[in-house]
Amino acid sequence: MLRLEALTKRYKTGDLALKAVSIEIPAGQVVGLIGPSGAGKSTLIRCINRLVEPSAGCVWLKGLELTGLRRGALRRARRRMGMIFQEYALVERLTVMENVLSGQLGYVGFWRSLLRRFPPAAVSQAFATLDRVGLSAHVDKRADALSGGQRQRVGIARALLQNPDLLLVDEPTASLDPKTSRQIMRLITEVCEERGLAAIINIHDVALARRFMQRIVGLRAGEVVYDGPPEGLSADV
Ligand code: ADP
Ligand code: ADP
Repeated sequence: MLRLEALTKRYKTGDLALKAVSIEIPAGQVVGLIGPSGAGKSTLIRCINRLVEPSAGCVWLKGLELTGLRRGALRRARRRMGMIFQEYALVERLTVMENVLSGQLGYVGFWRSLLRRFPPAAVSQAFATLDRVGLSAHVDKRADALSGGQRQRVGIARALLQNPDLLLVDEPTASLDPKTSRQIMRLITEVCEERGLAAIINIHDVALARRFMQRIVGLRAGEVVYDGPPEGLSADV
């Protein structure tokens, strides 16, 4: 599903953040990315969707080389990548339903529909997805009235409604308490399995990674220093 080939990033400052990283992730597999601060985890995730431009190497998503795409094609390809962030990136004054519909309909389509009526098919699909993430009782609540865990569930629903092939997840639980963090990790891994999505998750919490990931990639100074099941990870990582 996702293939990174000798992905390399040197920032203008001279920092070599990624050194020829090669990873392949099949459909349905969730990979936890771990490593100390500055190891290159965020850079790796951002090179996949090209929020950061790789200096060398290739990224392939389901047979499409993302690294060669021009702007219009890149925008379409990004629709196939659901992104989930630490800070949720919700529109505070919109409801839960409106937040997920804005992802589904696109910016212009969303505001146009808001003035008239949302397409019923989009609403029912959004409702089904919100139900799956446990928010069916909160669809009309404003985003600013939600707890951290609920906000992250909205972020997950919004990403899923894009119907992506891949989820890119950057520190999804960094602002959450331990119990909520476990619930969110469980939800992400379950939906990936159900829908056959590949996912790469930047997790700062190694205990969470050990518990929920089938596969862990350890980065250190821009290089892959571990790639395997959590059981093989030495205790000091
Ligand atoms: P994280 O904890 O997610 O790694 P950082 O604190 O390292 O975040 O970085 C925060 C922001 O600053 C990011 O947008 C990152 O790209 C940018 N950044 C990090 N290191 C540098 C650097 N040496 N020079 C310029 N920008 C940097
Ligand atoms: P991590 O997510 O593992 O903390 P990052 O990918 O944020 O690591 O950073 C990897 C390296 O790249 C660090 O040395 C960081 O300082 C550097 N870096 C990150 N973002 C930038 C940036 N925008 N400009 C310059 N250097 C950066």
